[in-house]
Amino acid sequence: MDQQVTFNTDLIKRYDVAGPRYTSYPTAVQFIEGFDANAYRLYTAASNNELIPKPLSLYVHLPFCRSLCYYCGCTKKVTRHDQQGVRYLELLHSEIEMQGKLFDQDREVVQLHFGGGTPTFHDDDQLTALMGQLGKHFSLSSDDSREFSIEVDPRTVGNERLAKLAQVGFNRISLGVQDIDPRVQEAVNRIQDTQSTLEMVENSRKLGFNSVSIDLIYGLPLQTVESFSNTIDTIVSAKPDRLAVYNYAHMPHIFRAQRMINKDDIPSPEIKLDLMELTIRKLSEAGYVYIGMDHFALPDDELTLAQREGHLQRNFQGYSTRRQCDLVGLGVSAIGKVGDCYAQNLKDIPSWQSAVADGYLPIWRGVSLTTEDRLRRSIIESIMCHGEVQFEHFESNFSIDFNDHFALELGNMERLEKDGLLEMGEEGFTVTPEGRLLLRSIAMVFDEYLQPMQSAPRFSRVI
Ligand code: SF4
Repeated sequence: MDQQVTFNTDLIKRYDVAGPRYTSYPTAVQFIEGFDANAYRLYTAASNNELIPKPLSLYVHLPFCRSLCYYCGCTKKVTRHDQQGVRYLELLHSEIEMQGKLFDQDREVVQLHFGGGTPTFHDDDQLTALMGQLGKHFSLSSDDSREFSIEVDPRTVGNERLAKLAQVGFNRISLGVQDIDPRVQEAVNRIQDTQSTLEMVENSRKLGFNSVSIDLIYGLPLQTVESFSNTIDTIVSAKPDRLAVYNYAHMPHIFRAQRMINKDDIPSPEIKLDLMELTIRKLSEAGYVYIGMDHFALPDDELTLAQREGHLQRNFQGYSTRRQCDLVGLGVSAIGKVGDCYAQNLKDIPSWQSAVADGYLPIWRGVSLTTEDRLRRSIIESIMCHGEVQFEHFESNFSIDFNDHFALELGNMERLEKDGLLEMGEEGFTVTPEGRLLLRSIAMVFDEYLQPMQSAPRFSRVI
């Protein structure tokens, strides 16, 4: 696919509607509580019985943080009491054992991600023991091509700890930075020394980590085009392999932490547009490829290659190269995707802990995909990952006539085509470089669930 991107202010303003980010389809809003542990077990058993069972990807949620970042929208618990983390880990070990029994042992784990919260809230011995427990109940790949990543808070990890993480088995790290400007850092309560962050990127290379990813956020309080320009220049000077540059969505009615942010300090929509334009321009000039939905990668990074070769996938961490895996979610609020279902664990720590302590799989809700869901998921993923939809592919895989089946959607796409977001042909459509910044607006056309709940303020906007 063409990986070019073009910033078009008018189009972005016109299509600035709230919409899902499509890390899954159906989205978590459609998960139902009637989908329980028994339903999940049926899917895990069926996944073992496939002709060629898929390899596994594990997501481990570690929710504790030492201090609260005011922009935070994650499932986390801020505490200074290490003991809370100890109890959580004990129960996480139990959940790993329960989940491990559901999957055949010859199914290799080729992808693993520790997310949070702050995984490095836990000390090296705890993380080593956690990896040991995963290795006891799952077959962890030892091949260097495995993707074992951990989100690292540079405020809690020095060079020594970084070396330990490499020893434990991680070969990728992701660093939360957000912004290096001291005023912005103070306004969001995340004070972080830039020099140590830059040194960490350099040291991670020396230690043999295959990939370093950095998260930034634009639209934070007190940010200006000048200050964010400096943030990008400084971070790019360290040449991380990947950058995720998220738009700050101020939704204090959903995320309590954001009530600490002074609304008047948030950049206006015009400035946010400028910040977005700046980000795209600067990162393109620095040689990064725009993957889609806030993600950038160097031209020889696996994400860029996967997109070019057509095997990129969208998942709960954004974009990923391991399309063929079943995903097992471990820990509070974690979401798994096994076969044609999604399953989410209980969302608050006390309920998750008491379910696991009583010996239950802590599944809270989920969804079994219908054939129509699978078809639409496949189309939405093709738009989000590859910016194109070839009708014939879906016609042969789902036994449909694309033009008949999606007559309504194709009619709705005429306006998008007229506005220049995509080019329609006889055999399919392709997203234009202008449309690549509005992928979710295009994907939303194929979302069967969106109409009845479009007024609900659950989703963020483009700017
Ligand atoms: S942004 Fe990350 S480190 Fe900060 S409070 Fe949220 S989960 Fe914790």
